[in-house]
Amino acid sequence: MGKTIRCDVLVVGAGPAGCSAALAARAEGLKVVVCERKKKIGVPVRCAEHIPALLKAETRIDPSVIVQPVRAMRTILPGGEFIENAAPGYIINRDLFDQGLAGQCLERGCTIILGASVAGREGEEVQVSLRGGGALRIIPEVVIGADGPHSTVGRWMGCANLDLIPAVQARVGLKEPMDRTEVYFLKLIRGGYGWLFPKGDEANVGIGMRSGQAGDSIYKVLMEFVCRLTGLGKVDLKPRAYMAGWIPVSPLKRTVSGNMILVGDAAGHTHPITGAGVPQAVVCGKMAGQWAARAAIAGDMSILRGYEEEWKDLYWESLERAFRRRLLMESQWGRLEEILPRCWVGFRQYYRRADD
Ligand SMILES: Cc1cc2nc3c(=O)[nH]c(=O)nc-3n(C[C@H](O)[C@H](O)[C@H](O)COP(=O)(O)OP(=O)(O)OC[C@H]3O[C@@H](n4cnc5c(N)ncnc54)[C@H](O)[C@@H]3O)c2cc1C
Repeated sequence: MGKTIRCDVLVVGAGPAGCSAALAARAEGLKVVVCERKKKIGVPVRCAEHIPALLKAETRIDPSVIVQPVRAMRTILPGGEFIENAAPGYIINRDLFDQGLAGQCLERGCTIILGASVAGREGEEVQVSLRGGGALRIIPEVVIGADGPHSTVGRWMGCANLDLIPAVQARVGLKEPMDRTEVYFLKLIRGGYGWLFPKGDEANVGIGMRSGQAGDSIYKVLMEFVCRLTGLGKVDLKPRAYMAGWIPVSPLKRTVSGNMILVGDAAGHTHPITGAGVPQAVVCGKMAGQWAARAAIAGDMSILRGYEEEWKDLYWESLERAFRRRLLMESQWGRLEEILPRCWVGFRQYYRRADD
């Protein structure tokens, strides 16, 4: 076994949740180690790369990360009618966004170990396998599991998030510049939706849906969607690249156990209807880092419960509502047009408490 590192806070995963947590814990003067299993942060990108403009208030975003602004979100109904909502935001290069956050961590004195996969745990010791062979032992006071939808730390805590839906995306040429995102509800994208997000002269076109229900492979449904957009004169038919990922669609009730806490996709902080998770990862990441620091400084892990209370105060109600609306949408898919106003964030009815 290789060398042993002692630290106050071990962060597993250098995505937006992990880096935001690391920055917050480091701001309290603690020794912070981040293990990231990828060799290069943010690569490959698994994201449609949209962030709300308000996220700028939460974290430093270098102008070079932003590809273009968007001013609105258009929701297109199965019959072709649409509604449009003001939704100021940006389309970003997500790899540069993640790398920017990691760069801030390094500037402030966090240690980031790349190609380091957190694999096991024995007592207080966390075992890390290094790419290319070799291993490390880390002995932390607090472990922050910011390790995405298939969280290893979540498994250790006995609360792995199993409710995930697959999402696939194609990068295609965009016919005309666009200053809005477009979201398509179509019967064939069962229990989900399709998106067309402009990115300069290209676009991210993707779908997230319950697999195994449509009878067709998710890539076949994606291609049908791309063909439809081509027919509408919006994009080129031939995708330049593909990517696939998983979206957690139910928030975890328990995100703290012993000296471990979960954040971001690992905690199901992603919005169960829209699938957006970057803002919550950043905001809850900060909270996780702050509470981890308080617990490590006091040597009292019961303090970590404050983290769960704080993120639930801010997000639980909206995540829970979205989760319930997802259940409704999935169970009533045959009546999509009728139920959509209660199930999609673009409609006022979605926010009506009477419909909860
Ligand atoms: C197709 C798709 C499109 C999306 N589009 C958007 C969008 O437009 N806007 C938006 O806001 N959200 C979007 N999301 C959701 C968003 O990408 C996630 O919510 C966000 O990445 C969550 O950040 P995170 O830091 O929690 O997790 P991640 O970004 O997944 O980071 C987790 C990190 O942990 C690392 N890791 C995992 N296991 C280990 C281990 N054992 N040891 C060490 N490291 C490990 C991973 O390599 C990864 O780098 C999309 C998701 C998908 C799949």
